[in-house]
Amino acid sequence: NDEEAAAKAAALNARSEAPTIFDKIIAKEILSSIVYEDEKVLAFRDINPQAPVHVLIIPKFRDGLTTLAKAEARHGDILGHLLCASKIVAEKEGILDGFRVVINNGPGACQSVYHLHLHVLGGRQLKWPPG
Ligand code: C5P
Repeated sequence: NDEEAAAKAAALNARSEAPTIFDKIIAKEILSSIVYEDEKVLAFRDINPQAPVHVLIIPKFRDGLTTLAKAEARHGDILGHLLCASKIVAEKEGILDGFRVVINNGPGACQSVYHLHLHVLGGRQLKWPPG
């Protein structure tokens, strides 16, 4: 079925360095609603928001980080930078007192785009545990 085919495609993607839709967003070939940008990261609104505030933060240079599972010591700076950017985004969006940062890693976590990204969610009461 469609769901299985999508999961299979995602699993194959996870092992490849193929470009993703996020490259086009970084290149501004696809317009996005940008919330924050610096030389290393881009933060833009998710097209399918799961909360009143739902922003994605991505490294402009993927450097092998298709998933968090690919993280190596050399990625420490960008991973820290992404986390600091999540605080800036939460502050700009006025959700510092209640927000969540999520990284879906791999098919088992429903990762669908194989370019590392942080989800910043907030603007409503978030429940725990997540689904
Ligand atoms: O963690 P995951 O890989 O599932 O998240 C990918 C996210 O990218 C989804 O929330 C999806 O809505 C978002 N997306 C987007 N713009 C696109 C393609 C995907 O905001 N053009």
